[in-house]
Amino acid sequence: MSGKDYEMVAGLETHVELKTATKIFCGCSTAFGAEPNTQCCPVCTGMPGSLPVLNRQVVHYAIKAGLAVNCRIASYSKEDRKNYFYPDLPKAWQTSQYDLPLCRGGGISFTSDNGEKRFVRLNRIHLEEDAGKLIHEGGVTRVDYSRCGVPLIEIVTEPDIHSPEDAVAFLTALKSIIKYTGVSDVKMQEGSLRCDVNLSVAKKGEPLGTRTETKNLNSFRAVLRSCKYEAERQIELIESGEAVKQETRRWDDASGVGSSMRGKEDAHDYRYFPEPDLMPVVMTDEDVEKIRATVPALPGERVEKYTKEYGLSDYDAALLTADVAIADLFDGTVAVGAAPKKAANFIMGDVMRLGKAPGAEDVNVRVSPSQLAEMLKLVDEGAASLAAVQKEILPRVWDTDKSPSVVLDELGLRQSNDAGELEAVVKGIIDANPKVVADYLAGNQKVVSFFVGQAMKATKGKANPKMVSEILGKLLK
Ligand code: ADP
Ligand code: MG
Ligand code: ZN
Repeated sequence: MSGKDYEMVAGLETHVELKTATKIFCGCSTAFGAEPNTQCCPVCTGMPGSLPVLNRQVVHYAIKAGLAVNCRIASYSKEDRKNYFYPDLPKAWQTSQYDLPLCRGGGISFTSDNGEKRFVRLNRIHLEEDAGKLIHEGGVTRVDYSRCGVPLIEIVTEPDIHSPEDAVAFLTALKSIIKYTGVSDVKMQEGSLRCDVNLSVAKKGEPLGTRTETKNLNSFRAVLRSCKYEAERQIELIESGEAVKQETRRWDDASGVGSSMRGKEDAHDYRYFPEPDLMPVVMTDEDVEKIRATVPALPGERVEKYTKEYGLSDYDAALLTADVAIADLFDGTVAVGAAPKKAANFIMGDVMRLGKAPGAEDVNVRVSPSQLAEMLKLVDEGAASLAAVQKEILPRVWDTDKSPSVVLDELGLRQSNDAGELEAVVKGIIDANPKVVADYLAGNQKVVSFFVGQAMKATKGKANPKMVSEILGKLLK
């Protein structure tokens, strides 16, 4: 940031699409990618006289997410109408929650880029429905109502974020936790995770400045760049003696420029009032505890286990727990008998290289815990070299889902552990290379690799290198 005396303050409002089969108030499908307007009914398109029914799974998922970030769950919450006119909203109101949200408080810890620990408090998590989608094409605008009524939770932070990098680190941690709970796919590029950034700047120690809200950021990169842009814009305004206007802004990621959309509306502009067609949501402690029992071990808990029980470094533990697919793969591999350190190295190196395209948002795992454990066992038993497992066997198992030992034989890479056979091979090499043997006997240990290389050649890569050097030592004593 250019102005050193200024501090950036940001609060995020993150929308997460819940992975339910049906919408929040009707039975329409939520599947992604269907033809426009094929997943609609009178309820989600707001036909007069239609009545909504709250989807129980939506409430459970929202509470599960809330528990994962240590929110308090309300024993009594209700739905409200947030009224506004826009072509993507056929009812002319969005059913949301105003004064009595489902979850309050809680927060998320994460590590900043500079290694410092941070904690961002959450203000609330509430339920709401998505709006339709406007499609601008060939000079006309059409609207797809299939998204109307897709269930969302909105996660609102306190203004606790103080750099563009921390905004991204916070979102990364939030995304990871939500993915662990399984209540959403949290894919920014598919819109199941979107974020509005409220941002102000002020001189250090002074009260909060006037904020702007930049809407619908749909990549980490957009969050990072729009925060930088907006903080600098506000500092320049203040430095030139002008005031920051409270407004809603948009970000154009292609040009890297933000622009004003409209003056920011206040709550009274929405004429919020209780939704008369829905019952309040009443949750007993017992209901909440039942949902708590479904929350899996989260990244923090697993880091603790990996460092304390398995002796992994903080860095490795963080890498293994960042994505639940990787953490589950690691836990599963250890559970079927692999040594934790070996499993960790295998996964962090070779598996992640195969599963994560550069710049990709998610890891794609196409190998099972038992397949990984079997590959490590082949190495331990001397049936395969580590290099063969890393470079040949894993990629083939990945593509074909065949068993590692089948692949080992198919590729002809099974190492020979037949001592008699190898001894004959090594004898042959000794007889054919008197000069190298003399070097060896003169104490030049480096020539061992020559013998290993020759043995590999003679056996088409199947000689166990450790056995070759042992046999050599025995024969040339
Ligand atoms: P609204 O519902 O009108 O958007 P809220 O009071 O619920 O307003 O706040 C929305 C978000 O804006 C929250 O994440 C909050 O932390 C953040 N926020 C509020 N005031 C400021 C400020 N002065 N600077 C930066 N962020 C702010
Ligand atoms: Mg807002
Ligand atoms: Zn519907």
